[in-house]
Amino acid sequence: MTRVAFIGLGRMGHGMAGRYLETGFKVAVWNRSKAKAEDLIARGAQWATSPEDAAIDADAVVTMVADDEASRAVWLTKDGAAANMKAGTLAIECSTVSYRHALDMAKELRGRGLVYIDCPVTGLPEAAAAGKLTLLVGADAADLDKARPYLAPLCSTIRHFGAVGTGTVYKLINNLMGAVQIASLAEGLAIAEQAGLDMKLVAEAMATGAVASPQVIRHSKRMVARDFSGASFTAALRRKDAAYAVALAETLLPGVPVGRAALAAYDNATTHAPDDDEGKMIEIVSRPK
Ligand code: NAP
Repeated sequence: MTRVAFIGLGRMGHGMAGRYLETGFKVAVWNRSKAKAEDLIARGAQWATSPEDAAIDADAVVTMVADDEASRAVWLTKDGAAANMKAGTLAIECSTVSYRHALDMAKELRGRGLVYIDCPVTGLPEAAAAGKLTLLVGADAADLDKARPYLAPLCSTIRHFGAVGTGTVYKLINNLMGAVQIASLAEGLAIAEQAGLDMKLVAEAMATGAVASPQVIRHSKRMVARDFSGASFTAALRRKDAAYAVALAETLLPGVPVGRAALAAYDNATTHAPDDDEGKMIEIVSRPK
């Protein structure tokens, strides 16, 4: 049976690890806090005592953790996954990390004889649990082909942007643009509320008019209703992505004032409610100054 080590069982990783169990892989799991692994263990996953322990006999190691710091911790510390992996094993980074980090990891892990691909994802936690993510891959074509059997359980679409790091470049642009849209939506709705408009009508108009991107469709009614429940993407994670994207942009283009403004909006949101759904942006822009 093909063995996968899955590391990072948060909102996204938990569902993704479950997909490997559902599709017949032998799965070892590790998470910083064990409680999130309990039901996966009950479904047949093997608990590992460290990322190294999870990865030791794996054919592929998949990580889905918060950020660069967490990625470094699970791959490269003393009992990190890379400590004892067999040469030629796939190292699949699904976390959204910075471009610099993706390149550094590729160099480090390739230097240890491993096959590293960056594979950040789009899709909410329910898509992760249903195997319906879109994967944004940076990899040599041959490495991607080797990885395909391990990517298939996770996704409905694979987009291959080019060499290692390119999946991350696209993901960061995507999420910076999302930050701009959501911050701007919150401001538009807050202005409409202050002007006394019928907000049911405003939400309907926004979700069906020319500005109706999927982000606007998802967040407009929820923001008007102040409904921040359900599967979510937190303010802190979006802020992290926007910061990584602005850092990347600064190496390529001077300025990016719109991206910077969205990052500033997410700095505020993260101060106010880091672990809540990012739709809470509406509360921040609506507060009297
Ligand atoms: P989450 O629920 O906050 O989970 C974060 C995971 O990272 C947890 O397993 C956490 O462990 C682990 N972690 C954090 N710091 C760590 C450290 N220093 N050492 C080891 N593990 C650490 O986040 P998520 O929503 O699943 O997101 C995971 C990744 O997917 C992020 O890069 C995010 O940007 C990306 N993403 C999220 C979504 C979404 O809709 N949520 C969509 C696409 C992509 P504990 O459980 O012990 O805290």
